[in-house]
Amino acid sequence: MGEQSLTGGPEAMLERCRHCPSQLAHPLRWRRLAYDAWEIELRCPDCRETWQERVPTEAVKRLDGVLKTARAELERHLEEIERIDLEERISGFVSALGTDAILPEDFGRPPTP
Ligand SMILES: [Zn+2]
Repeated sequence: MGEQSLTGGPEAMLERCRHCPSQLAHPLRWRRLAYDAWEIELRCPDCRETWQERVPTEAVKRLDGVLKTARAELERHLEEIERIDLEERISGFVSALGTDAILPEDFGRPPTP
């Protein structure tokens, strides 16, 4: 398998969808074709297309870095969302307490026979 059959070089932006403006493409499968050539099957979560790229190892490493960064960012966002959600629920609870909106009934009553 020669260099000429590669679809991209070391700087190939594999996270970029070939079919839409999305930059969230992720690898489904990959296999090594040669010492410095990989075939990667990619999928776009936005338009759901799948396609294949043949790139050198450097491009695969680059994609791995992009995915790790994206994952770390996503985890930070999730933590932030959870924190905001928790704060909103706490402040909602506190203000409900302040206006007597929460009654003992809200916590459930023993079943009456
Ligand atoms: Zn797409």
